[in-house]
Amino acid sequence: MRTSNWILTAALLVTVSAAAQQATDSQPPAQPQATDAAQTAQPSQQPAPAQAQQPAPTASQPADAATQPAPAATIAPPATVAAPTTMDQVVNLFIEREHGLIKALATRTPVVETYLQNLTADPQLGPVPSEDHYFLGRLDMGENIDRKDYLKEQEKSMQQRLLGGFQKLYKVQYQPMGFSWMVYADRTDFDREHYDFRYVRREFLGDVRCLVFDVTPKPKSGRGRFLGRLWVEDQGFNIVRLNGTYYPAPRNSYFFHMDSWRLNLIPGYWVPSFIYSEEGDFSAGVKSKVAFKAQTRIWGYDLKKGGKDDELTNIRVDSVQDSSATAQDASPLQAERVWQQQAEDNVVERLTSAGLLAPEGDVDHILQTVVNNLEVTNNIDLPRPVRTRVLLTAPLETFSVGNTIVISRGLVDVLPDEASLAAVLSHELAHIVLGHNLGSKYAFNDRMLFSDDATYQNLGFKHIPEEETAADKKAVEFLKNSPYAQKLDNVGLFLKALQQRAVSLNALLTTHLGNPLAEGGQVSRLSALSTQGPALDNSKLDQIAALPLGGRVKVNPWDDKAEMVKTAPVAITSARDKMPFEVTPFFPRLARYGGNAAPVAAPTTATNSTQNPGN
Ligand SMILES: [Zn+2]
Repeated sequence: MRTSNWILTAALLVTVSAAAQQATDSQPPAQPQATDAAQTAQPSQQPAPAQAQQPAPTASQPADAATQPAPAATIAPPATVAAPTTMDQVVNLFIEREHGLIKALATRTPVVETYLQNLTADPQLGPVPSEDHYFLGRLDMGENIDRKDYLKEQEKSMQQRLLGGFQKLYKVQYQPMGFSWMVYADRTDFDREHYDFRYVRREFLGDVRCLVFDVTPKPKSGRGRFLGRLWVEDQGFNIVRLNGTYYPAPRNSYFFHMDSWRLNLIPGYWVPSFIYSEEGDFSAGVKSKVAFKAQTRIWGYDLKKGGKDDELTNIRVDSVQDSSATAQDASPLQAERVWQQQAEDNVVERLTSAGLLAPEGDVDHILQTVVNNLEVTNNIDLPRPVRTRVLLTAPLETFSVGNTIVISRGLVDVLPDEASLAAVLSHELAHIVLGHNLGSKYAFNDRMLFSDDATYQNLGFKHIPEEETAADKKAVEFLKNSPYAQKLDNVGLFLKALQQRAVSLNALLTTHLGNPLAEGGQVSRLSALSTQGPALDNSKLDQIAALPLGGRVKVNPWDDKAEMVKTAPVAITSARDKMPFEVTPFFPRLARYGGNAAPVAAPTTATNSTQNPGN
């Protein structure tokens, strides 16, 4: 593999070296650059596109160092470049930077999730989901994406395997997928030989000024070439957004349209983070066979797999003695509790290292406040505090292990208000209070030794039906005693909205670790509250029963940290604006690394509510 790449690279070298020479000749003397937050290289280096492709690393290419299997998990920032004076030089620069990014990320295997909703036309609500599909896996950034990975075969084979039950799901999801093609414009041949670049204009994306280019494949440059538009930021000349499709498509098939966004999560690199795909035309007279909207999210670029942090912890443990006056031998009950805590800690740690749980953070403070409200008003006094964590995936689910309540990103996104959040958390709190979470088999560390892709086969926190019923009953008691007692109508509305979409959103309601909220198209969770409140009425614009996906939680794709999205209110002007549980395009507010703004641009989707559960 590597050898053939080198041969290709060598061939490219010959053809582009002339252009590189030109670029170098026409460069003005190197200028000091104060733009890149973390320059480490000499500013005198010239941007020679050909060099970026040399197989032999040179001192002027820190990007190469990053791809070596060094123990450090960091990626060295690229060399600083002299400011270009012509658009031709800009093109050379972003081509070089794109190859630098491909190299820098070649050893990474981030988590990739695609959630897709097939659409059908509803006279009142416009295109609404008719069915959905969910794919989760790991993206091997070092592999070439399979160009045969287009809709027909892909969909068919995935559907067939999905029907086989989710034992196979994770495996299937690990295959490179068509939805994630647009992490790069062209992984192998992104150059002037294969493409024409035309400068369009300048444009701001968020806080970042960009140069916009239209890209067309040259005639006879082969199938499946990128066709569309690029946004290139004007300091390091990295591509920050790609929008378009691939062309020409093989016979009897076609490529999706995609809008691909990158975030400046590490110095000097813009990392592929969100891809929105959409097909379908609902105009009068159009009889389109395929209509869908899909969100692809990539995260977990920098998963911590033990290593340095663990060593430090061990050293500290060795040197600390328990000198407290209460240090005593453990009673049998204490031993049992420590054992359970060990199981809980093992699971939380394992799910975090698999890229499925966010590290403890901002969102947990909000969740814990809500749990606290329930505990205080119900006089719940547990021997160990209840903790909360965010599962990074979209399907709507909660589960608990020991005293840790886990809620999925997708579920936090769609909940309309704090009372509904309290309702879903109260069910798990009830499991804890009722002693349903005493399983401790995960206290044995051998049970944590499985590959990340086997997570769903090795971990599971489902309760038996009797425990589910008991937890629901207890949860309603908690809620009626809580500050949320007067707002349970909203919970009822949410459950009604969920019921309305339960059949068409089967994949979103298929849980992977906990009990589902609905089964067989019937909402089962907290059914005692489902008749509460007014009837669901889509035409009432002030009745917000559930939100679109992506409106609440944003995840930093590099370190997996989750935080709440801050969005401004947007007026709902028609029933079509509500979009409960629906997929919308991404429109992250781009910002430079280390800027004054939040380090992660928010993947703000077209959300229609500003109520935060914590407000
Ligand atoms: Zn349960």
